[in-house]
Amino acid sequence: MDQSSRVTPDERRQALEEIAAEVSVCTLCPLHKGRTRAVPGEGHEETEVVFVGEGPGYNEDREGRPFVGQAGGLLNEMLKAIAWRRQEVFITNVVKCRPPGNRDPEPSEIAACAPYLKRQLQVLDPAVVVTLGRHSLATFMPGTRISAVHGTMSATDPETGAASATTYAMYHPAAALRQGSLKETMLTDMCGLPEVLIQARERRASTISGATFVTADEAISPSVRESEQQPVEATMESEPSIENVHVDGSAALIELDAVDAATVVATAPASSTEPQLELFG
Ligand code: URA
Ligand code: SF4
Repeated sequence: MDQSSRVTPDERRQALEEIAAEVSVCTLCPLHKGRTRAVPGEGHEETEVVFVGEGPGYNEDREGRPFVGQAGGLLNEMLKAIAWRRQEVFITNVVKCRPPGNRDPEPSEIAACAPYLKRQLQVLDPAVVVTLGRHSLATFMPGTRISAVHGTMSATDPETGAASATTYAMYHPAAALRQGSLKETMLTDMCGLPEVLIQARERRASTISGATFVTADEAISPSVRESEQQPVEATMESEPSIENVHVDGSAALIELDAVDAATVVATAPASSTEPQLELFG
């Protein structure tokens, strides 16, 4: 049953604001002690795509917003390559407060913070959850290695809060900033995302309507345990062009030629957002 259709955008926004308000005063784990501001996440309340990173860094902690530093700059540029904007998606992290010195979040901290992410996913009910980096991957595809599963999708465990979603694994942009060769890999994976969204929508539609597309049903069935989930190679209609990626600076410049205009229109992840005709007109 499509319960999401009964939730209005206003109700979604209110529910997200309520979660953000709780996060801003949360003391459930030790990370609250070092934070300047908590970073609940932000984005379009009607989006179909949620990006989940690791945790706030220095700039995010100061601004209270996710991915506003160098890694965020690269994420924005990569979104531009598929003609999406960050205002059309939702961006959050597995921990909402900055780990001191940008250390990895502890498993206990991720566990303490998990209910907030779960509630956000319940509210947003996305078609696609994009994991950025291995800590996010561990939540959505436990037991997998990022080097093996990046650029692949699998059915999201409904226990995560995303009741009928497809998980798509990507490297973390900070890793791509540290290791230049990962930038091309990440861009290639990003260019697969519009097609992943199309497939995720089809799987959702077949699940919601109860139609019996056996393979699609099996791939998205809420009863499929994560141990049985087989990552599926993301398919792309054509190889994305990466010749305009400049891998020499902190913010890669990516020309908008990776995905054709028809795909762009078909795959805007938030339908109520104005079309971005200026980007390819
Ligand atoms: N890295 C993350 O994982 N999240 C942010 O919000 C910023 C950098
Ligand atoms: Fe609370 Fe999460 Fe911040 Fe820990 S990281 S204090 S659980 S909001």
